[in-house]
Amino acid sequence: MFSTLIELRNYGQQAVEAAKYIGQGSAVTSDHLNRSPITVQYPYEKILSSERFRGRIHFEFDKCIACEVRVRVCPINLPIVDWILLKDIKKKQLKSYSIDFGVCIFCGNCVEYCPTNCLSMTEEYELSSYDRHELNYDQMALGRLPLSTSQDVSIQVVSASTNQQSSEFVG
Ligand code: SF4
Ligand code: SF4
Repeated sequence: MFSTLIELRNYGQQAVEAAKYIGQGSAVTSDHLNRSPITVQYPYEKILSSERFRGRIHFEFDKCIACEVRVRVCPINLPIVDWILLKDIKKKQLKSYSIDFGVCIFCGNCVEYCPTNCLSMTEEYELSSYDRHELNYDQMALGRLPLSTSQDVSIQVVSASTNQQSSEFVG
């Protein structure tokens, strides 16, 4: 008789626990029902990059003074700066410039320390390639400004902060 009462009490406790877990699970499910889908249908949809996003580096050849500061601040001594010294005017002349984005860790040090602000980080992140050597950008490739995601008429922009899709195609 006594053991039956204990069993009944345990059974009651387990039933209460089970009901609690079902309630918690239902609360989580109903919470997700009110949310927008989080899947981005890339490449037809893209998330807008944040303002300080560190994407592919843009380089302005005319502003560079070949000081090589960025080579010293780069944690992996990455950029190749090729220059000649113009002895008559005692000035360096930049010949070529390259960054290998297959190795770059996008830390932003070079952009931070460049004395002439000829480097900037863009919102471009689509750098995949079948040949890693194609990721070694010369000054021509580095000088190209990427098309802004918000200006690309072929895609739908998704806001990263709210994850709400814009109601219409941008452009
Ligand atoms: S730090 Fe700036 S100015 Fe100096 S070599 Fe690099 S890109 Fe050119
Ligand atoms: S972003 Fe960082 S790793 Fe890449 S080139 Fe600049 S300093 Fe080097």
